[in-house]
Amino acid sequence: MSTPIRRTPRHAGTVVAARALTPRTRRITITAPTLPPPRPAQDVELVLDDGGRRCKRRYTVAGYRDGTFHVDAVLHGEGPGARWAASARPGDAVDLCGPRGRIELADADWHLFVGDEASLPAIIELAAALAAPGRASGLAGAAGAIPAFSGGADPAFSGGADPARGGPKVMAIIEVATATDELPVPAQVSWLHRGDRPAGAPDLLQAALARFRAPSGAGYGYALGESRTVAALRPRLAELGLAGERLYLKGYWNAWDPRRRAAPPSG
Ligand SMILES: Cc1cc2nc3c(=O)[nH]c(=O)nc-3n(C[C@H](O)[C@H](O)[C@H](O)COP(=O)(O)OP(=O)(O)OC[C@H]3O[C@@H](n4cnc5c(N)ncnc54)[C@H](O)[C@@H]3O)c2cc1C
Repeated sequence: MSTPIRRTPRHAGTVVAARALTPRTRRITITAPTLPPPRPAQDVELVLDDGGRRCKRRYTVAGYRDGTFHVDAVLHGEGPGARWAASARPGDAVDLCGPRGRIELADADWHLFVGDEASLPAIIELAAALAAPGRASGLAGAAGAIPAFSGGADPAFSGGADPARGGPKVMAIIEVATATDELPVPAQVSWLHRGDRPAGAPDLLQAALARFRAPSGAGYGYALGESRTVAALRPRLAELGLAGERLYLKGYWNAWDPRRRAAPPSG
């Protein structure tokens, strides 16, 4: 017997606002009245135009209230998604599917997020949900409005309980190009700056993870970013006890050269 194909519902959206969030990230606010509330860090798949052909690109729902939500898109240069984000204007129509994604918060004494600019909206949504359990994902609480809990630059975490907050300890190691790409994350954050080096290489995150000391108790890890990079982090995450059911690992984008390849690898 064949397995039925599960289709994500499609929705008609309209861009209602667009502005720079950082020099390399643009916040596009979309209203799609039929889109139901997502779980934290679920995403929508936008149906975009790629030189006359349809293509789909996934973006985290960064804040949601009554069918209106933000997409915080990295302006990385090439690609239909980045081009759409750079040029989106109020009044533009955008078709989308969603909410999508299996990402879910787990029960743990501590949580470690590892990611980059593309996964920063998801990390913010998840960390905010951990900081305020039961908080509805809302425009007022979305990235940019959340107060910074840390933003420290030292990747050597001390570990241990967090008596000030009571709940689980929430930590993140996030690679961005420069400090201007940082956004408030309600977690103990170690920001890594790659500068002029190309995005999508594992070395900076690997080095920071090598220095990371796990707190006591049961941890849960989320590695979200360039596909080969997150795969390369797997062995060190396993050493920290973050493997199998204690790890959510997801490739958010693929580093590939559009001048040498006709299409991005699937996944
Ligand atoms: C569940 C999920 C949620 C996501 N949420 C977000 C989000 O909230 N915000 C966001 O910006 N992205 C997000 N992404 C990533 C986004 O879908 C990809 O980056 C997508 O490939 C961008 O499409 P594009 O058309 O701009 O580039 P593509 O056509 O895919 O690629 C063109 C070129 O750009 C390079 N490239 C693609 N993405 C990046 C990048 N991030 N940095 C540097 N180079 C890149 C490629 O390697 C390639 O050389 C998410 C992905 C997933 C799977």
